[in-house]
Amino acid sequence: MNKQTYNKRLMSNMSVNGQNHLVIDGVDTVDIVNKYGTPVNVYDISLIKQKISAFKEAFKNYENKTQVAYASKAFSSLALYEMLAKEDVSLDVVSGGELFLALKAGFPKERIHFHGNNKSYEELEAAISEQIGCIVIDNFYEIGMIKELTDKCDTKVDVLIRVTPGVEAHTHEYITTGQADSKFGFDLTSGQVETAIKQIKSIERINMIGLHAHIGSQIFEVDGYQVVIEKLISKAKEWKNAYNFDLDVLNVGGGFGIRYTDEDAPLPLEEYAKAIMSAVRKHAELNDMELPEIWIEPGRSIVGEAGTSLYTIGTQKTIPSIRKYVSVDGGMADNIRPALYQAEYTGVLANRVNEEEEEKVSIAGKACESGDMLIWDITLPQPDQNDILAVFSTGAYGYSMASNYNRLPRPAVVFVENGKDFLAIRRETVQDYLKLENSIENWK
Ligand SMILES: *Cc1c(COP(=O)(O)O)cnc(C)c1O
Repeated sequence: MNKQTYNKRLMSNMSVNGQNHLVIDGVDTVDIVNKYGTPVNVYDISLIKQKISAFKEAFKNYENKTQVAYASKAFSSLALYEMLAKEDVSLDVVSGGELFLALKAGFPKERIHFHGNNKSYEELEAAISEQIGCIVIDNFYEIGMIKELTDKCDTKVDVLIRVTPGVEAHTHEYITTGQADSKFGFDLTSGQVETAIKQIKSIERINMIGLHAHIGSQIFEVDGYQVVIEKLISKAKEWKNAYNFDLDVLNVGGGFGIRYTDEDAPLPLEEYAKAIMSAVRKHAELNDMELPEIWIEPGRSIVGEAGTSLYTIGTQKTIPSIRKYVSVDGGMADNIRPALYQAEYTGVLANRVNEEEEEKVSIAGKACESGDMLIWDITLPQPDQNDILAVFSTGAYGYSMASNYNRLPRPAVVFVENGKDFLAIRRETVQDYLKLENSIENWK
């Protein structure tokens, strides 16, 4: 394979320097490894900022107002939240933990939206007493708790109703399901949404501002969004007539697809924006309704491609005429997606990017699970011990889903921007484990 083909595989803001090292946003990845060790997750902050402004650009040229909320479950850290606070985006949180960290980072409360199918009383109390921007109500139990808490805190709260629209988007198709079989939201087909609207309408301190639906993830087509928009707007019209329901905000969720491997060809953001906004306009006009404000919630598409995982190569095992396993010093503990979703990744040897001698190998993690494989069948320059493997597009649902399985410490997280690096999250150490532990000696 020639140089060109390799270069084609690199992600944006990546280059190769004179030493044949992978460079991300001006920082040599070999220097990062020397400084911080492996495994390490590197985030290209310039690329995150580019993605945010691309989303805002794509959605801003339409008549109705729009709001971009970063779905922080994809990746959160104090420093990321601090950076996002300056970026004029909103933020989705799904737990008291994410809310706590966002508030610690000084993220503007009024721009925080709280999601989740099982928000606890304590979590809702934190959200309501802090007067965050919006709660996305998911179920009847929550309505009762929010009523109680708004009374207790003597405050009002804006809410969206999460609807299970019976539309499920898969990577290249969407499925319209009659009975929406999902743990999230109020079911559209069985009348749950109507019941919820009636209940919420009767509660003075809950201010219902609209509807929310999220149809899936890693979506490469626009039709799923359009079908949901059509459904929800025509329903909203019915509810306007029946219950005086106002659709001020329509939140169409996240799910915009990204490039993990060369197989993935994500749509330009303008295509999603155009499809979403034209469907909204069309169905608002058909139903003689005002244009609602449109909110979107990208997670993966903001941080996914900006993340690169660097690992050190250790042992190798060749099974004649079957395959060669090359093991790295991380795996499912820092990136569960291959094991959980059969997710596919690609990458390069970061210290020998454009070398010609190549072979096909499979990359194994170090956890005690046969399923701990990061990449099956990748073509790389013949790997040696202590080479560095860079795995691309690991920025979403990697670190945020990381575990301590096998007591593997969570990796360090390093931000890079314009040639500078910054340790955003230090590597976990065995001493960190002890903070949670109690000795049996203390059991008197
Ligand atoms: C997960 C999730 C998102 C983000 O999805 P991505 O695929 O990362 O864009 C947005 N909204 C809701 C409600 C989600 O659950």
